[in-house]
Amino acid sequence: MNYDLVIKNGRIITAGEDFNGDIAVMGETIAAIGQNLAGSREIDASGLYVIPGAVDGHVHLQMPFADIITADNFEQGTIAAAFGGVTSIIDFVEPGKGQDLVEALSWRRAEADGQVVIDYGLHMTLLDPDPLILDQVSDAYAAGCATFKLYTAYPHFYLADDELYRALIAVAEAGGLAVVHAENYPVITEVWKRLLAAGKVEAKWHPHSRPAITEAEAVNRVLSIAHLAGAPTLIFHLSCGEAAREVAQAKERGWVAFGETCPQYLTLPDDIYERQDMPGTWFICQPPVRGNAQSAALWQSLASGSVDIISTDHCPFSAEAKRLGEQNFTLTPGGISGLETRLALVHTFGVLAGHLTLNRWVEACCTLPADLHGMIHKGHLIPGYDADIVLFDPQREVTYSAENLHSNISYTPYAGVTVTGVPVTTISRGEVIVENGQFIGKRGRGRFLKRRYE
Ligand SMILES: [Zn+2]
Repeated sequence: MNYDLVIKNGRIITAGEDFNGDIAVMGETIAAIGQNLAGSREIDASGLYVIPGAVDGHVHLQMPFADIITADNFEQGTIAAAFGGVTSIIDFVEPGKGQDLVEALSWRRAEADGQVVIDYGLHMTLLDPDPLILDQVSDAYAAGCATFKLYTAYPHFYLADDELYRALIAVAEAGGLAVVHAENYPVITEVWKRLLAAGKVEAKWHPHSRPAITEAEAVNRVLSIAHLAGAPTLIFHLSCGEAAREVAQAKERGWVAFGETCPQYLTLPDDIYERQDMPGTWFICQPPVRGNAQSAALWQSLASGSVDIISTDHCPFSAEAKRLGEQNFTLTPGGISGLETRLALVHTFGVLAGHLTLNRWVEACCTLPADLHGMIHKGHLIPGYDADIVLFDPQREVTYSAENLHSNISYTPYAGVTVTGVPVTTISRGEVIVENGQFIGKRGRGRFLKRRYE
């Protein structure tokens, strides 16, 4: 049999296996995995890892924040993703108060369709606990939003415990997954007030304003309420050992609870908000980066599986926008970039540093995100699945700078950081879209993923 494309002689690494072989593609689909396969086009992957395309289940492209917007639009953001070995992302629908959920989904799709270069899904944000809106959760699920974002932070998104409970029941009844930003916002705002009143307005006070216990308490409360409501729940962006421990305890009780963390919580140093060369506001995100001791705790939680997956919460704002927080850190548009750097950072600081196995790296960045978020036919190297495949050169070293990354911002938290091992070829549904340092895909080739749980 002559296949369309064969990736030959690679070291194929999945969540469960590690062997040398060939992968054959027909059209958009993986057709066979074996030895001595032949194709019309063949790519020699000798010396390279061949892994499933990475899945980033948490990104904010083209997201409005007051009267500004995140720096990466759907085209530029997905190009950056493709360079980083990412073949699927999940962004968000943020309906207006009272807006029909399926209508809001179609509005958001209209912004992304025709622009994205890789496949994408959308989480549906539930910010309006009105019973008429919660009645539409099953319609949103049927339209392809299998996952629902709930917040216990930010005035516009905040759900009190009773509202959270009702929203979680709606998610449970629809058969969806709740994905939750968990922090104790009422307490955090009181801590802020005290800091600001004492003249503590610089970025370095940001982590002090959101202590780890305010996150852990909220994780405990959210998972308790979710268990009561019967809703499977993924806690987003765990930033500390205290919060990860709450997820671990929920799992021990047999609750359907999952945890996500992000590279910024795993790799950025203690002094990130006090650097001489870069303003601390650039790295303000919520929850805050908490430094080396908390990173160590999170690596352990990832290794043990109590934290399941790694996403990025990619949410870059321009240096100009970040200046809004210069005189008062609480006014900073929160978010950090990372869509392009995750696979390499986790390989270098997770695998090579001895925290994670290669299989766990693939599982946490590629396979489990696809499974948890209901992406059918993604995240695995199995015949019949989408041919989303990444060739990763484990030897190549790159020192990051804003110039050699593809996000539309002038800075990166990883400037000067050297990674060992980078994605070199990205294949999305059988089509090579990044190779030899070039993006060669087409704008708009990405598709909306209708996600569901089987
Ligand atoms: Zn986010």
